[in-house]
Amino acid sequence: MPVDRLLPSDESRELIALTCDIADKVLDPIVDEHERDEKYPEGVFAQLGQAGLLSLPQPEEWGGGGQTYEVYLQVLEEIAARWAAVAVAVSVHSLSSHPLLAYGTDEQKQRWLPGMLSGSQIGAYSLSEPQAGSDAAALRCSATRSGDGYVLNGSKAWITHGGKADFYTLFARTGEGSRGVSCFLVPGNLDGLTFGKPEEKMGLHAVPTTSAFYDNALLNADRLIGSEGQGLSIAFSALDSGRLGIAAVAVGIAQAALNEAVRYANERTTFGRKIIDHQGLGFLLADMAAAVVSARATYLDAARRRDAGLTYSTHASVAKLIATDAAMKVTTDAVQVFGGAGYTRDYRVERFMREAKITQIFEGTNQIQRMVIARAMG
Ligand SMILES: Cc1cc2nc3c(=O)[nH]c(=O)nc-3n(C[C@H](O)[C@H](O)[C@H](O)COP(=O)(O)OP(=O)(O)OC[C@H]3O[C@@H](n4cnc5c(N)ncnc54)[C@H](O)[C@@H]3O)c2cc1C
Repeated sequence: MPVDRLLPSDESRELIALTCDIADKVLDPIVDEHERDEKYPEGVFAQLGQAGLLSLPQPEEWGGGGQTYEVYLQVLEEIAARWAAVAVAVSVHSLSSHPLLAYGTDEQKQRWLPGMLSGSQIGAYSLSEPQAGSDAAALRCSATRSGDGYVLNGSKAWITHGGKADFYTLFARTGEGSRGVSCFLVPGNLDGLTFGKPEEKMGLHAVPTTSAFYDNALLNADRLIGSEGQGLSIAFSALDSGRLGIAAVAVGIAQAALNEAVRYANERTTFGRKIIDHQGLGFLLADMAAAVVSARATYLDAARRRDAGLTYSTHASVAKLIATDAAMKVTTDAVQVFGGAGYTRDYRVERFMREAKITQIFEGTNQIQRMVIARAMG
């Protein structure tokens, strides 16, 4: 059931149609098997990169698609509706290139951006550590000046695409306190960098999430992005955009769950009629549809503010909070619509419910989003 979108131009309508076509032909046929068997989708990111879908919001002068966030996020939503793990990795790839784009020198951009934006180099974002998730300023992984480079030591945690990505946007400690964190662009094959085994997650099985370990890994000084000590503000500014990506992913998951629930409710009969015709269930579906539409409107509002050059940090937190809570509620209700069948792996709704849960946790838990929103009012 295609989403009836209000899009700004013919070009954006064609882009959404292209995305749906690729998602239906490339992602949808293999998603169930890969998620069940925890199999990495080899070749899929290369295909998305060739279609230009890995760099939509970045400027054309650096090889990006020059699209607005309003359009990019709706593309991401369509990918998420077919395969959340792939959409999350696409969003994280964009998140990981943001620091170089926004804070890198022209020389750094010329060197590394074309590979990232063509999708031939997949990126990961490495802020979290075992003891530093919500409290990012508690990170300990160190980058110590040595000659004309830095020596990296310590552990990072929870890296989406860990071990598979070609580069890692790393946040490491170069000094004391919250002003003692710096941002680096680390090649995936750096000597002294190793990865843990993939976490055994509730969902997003096809794309690994791992720890990373730095053991006296020597990094050239030209891989410092921005200035020393600027790392946390770079990390948080990247997360403002990243949270919009997660909001769009959540809406995609919720829309997919709603579609499945509506289809089933029109097929399944009890007491001599389709279950959608029982008012109790019809109203449940109506509330699900209302939650999806309003969550989409919330992320689009934040995206349009970003596109217009207005402040949008609080709006991004609102969008992430509203969209991911909506996804959790809608996917849980979709399982309910399926009755006993919804609690089995025979239908996709149980996967959607597992996938929705993580959107409330990563890129700032929803408790942290509430802190951001409350602080803006204080
Ligand atoms: C599948 C997956 C993928 C991830 N991908 C990445 C990635 O690519 N890169 C990356 O850097 N990180 C990634 N993360 C890490 C993720 O961002 C963190 O897990 C998240 O920020 C929460 O941190 P934590 O797990 O340490 O929980 P904690 O910070 O320990 O929080 C535990 C609980 O306490 C609550 N809490 C904490 N502080 C407060 C407070 N002040 N007020 C109220 N409640 C509070 C939290 O909301 C949460 O409910 C990923 C995590 C997962 C599970």
